[in-house]
Amino acid sequence: MTNFELERFRQILEAKAAEFENSTRQRDGICVEGSADELDRVLQARQREIAVQRLEAASSRLRDTRAALLRMEQGRYGFCLECDERISSKRLQALPWAPLCVQCQEANDQWNAVKSTRALPMAA
Ligand SMILES: [Zn+2]
Repeated sequence: MTNFELERFRQILEAKAAEFENSTRQRDGICVEGSADELDRVLQARQREIAVQRLEAASSRLRDTRAALLRMEQGRYGFCLECDERISSKRLQALPWAPLCVQCQEANDQWNAVKSTRALPMAA
């Protein structure tokens, strides 16, 4: 990766970090006043759930983005954390904060899927 490309990714990552930071500060919809109406309460609970999920997604992206900026400082940006291979620039353009190459990400996703099936409560 050339310095020019690195610099471009740094700018993208910094802009993204600022954007995600902003979304983690938006807590609208999480503190909703209680309503006497049952349907309102159900809707509010659902809205709160969505707002919390959005917040969690933004803070996890923020973590990934900051980690990517840190790797950039260490000269490790663009290399997979698992296998040390270069992450394709196509993937970095789509997900500039990606810590893993496509193959490792897929292996990871599969492993997580297996883990979540195994985590289902089992009969004692
Ligand atoms: Zn990899």
